[in-house]
Amino acid sequence: MTQRPSQSRTRLVMGNWKMNGSLLANAALLQALVAGASRARGAQLAVCAPFPYLPQLQELLAGSLISWGAQDVSVHEQGAYTGEVSGSMLRDFACTWVLCGHSERRAMHGESSSLVAAKTSAALALGLAPVVCVGETLADRDAGRVEQVIAEQLEPILGLGAAALNKLVLAYEPVWAIGTGRTASPEQAQAVHGFIRSALTRSEAGQTRILYGGSVKAANAAALFSQPDIDGALVGGASLVADEFLNIAAA
Ligand code: PEP
Repeated sequence: MTQRPSQSRTRLVMGNWKMNGSLLANAALLQALVAGASRARGAQLAVCAPFPYLPQLQELLAGSLISWGAQDVSVHEQGAYTGEVSGSMLRDFACTWVLCGHSERRAMHGESSSLVAAKTSAALALGLAPVVCVGETLADRDAGRVEQVIAEQLEPILGLGAAALNKLVLAYEPVWAIGTGRTASPEQAQAVHGFIRSALTRSEAGQTRILYGGSVKAANAAALFSQPDIDGALVGGASLVADEFLNIAAA
């Protein structure tokens, strides 16, 4: 069931810095974002940074129009999990958001859809808002398997139930469009967003935000955002340039 964007689905434009940044570069970027945040015209703005920079985000973004979060979270609360970061640690730095199941983590760190659902559940239990990423590879698309792959990735998330679905955000990120400069056309993106929304129950479908991600830039944002089931963007490379990110939000 396709739903038009409504007041209940405030648009969200979220930057994923990936493993980029330095204290110096971040300070300039964050100051420019805070100064220009009103250009988002009612859309929510957020930034997901590498773990070490969360205190800097907290310091420079507190009280601004921009919320922040991390790019991954452990399923564990605490203990002998070297290198992992728990949801309560993210809460210590006032994170609102956490990305779960970004395709780079699925591909490079072997994260399965059930692990992604466990991370989503752990994040929700601690009051974080997960942004759960799904998306097919080019081989999946060429083989006509887009809906099958998305359905498989979504299944354990849908199993978390309505209370979870009402708090999380979904992001459709075709793997072939991430960091490649190749964007899904607005129609290709809308087709998958519509499919994802149709997998939700009626009340979830009206409320759950579904972001598009994959080489979003100021030049293509307006066309993507004009699609009825696209509620904003998850932005990688272009989120490292303040003006570009703000122009996407202004679109
Ligand atoms: C991402 O990292 O989630 C992403 C969409 O990257 P890019 O915008 O660079 O394609």
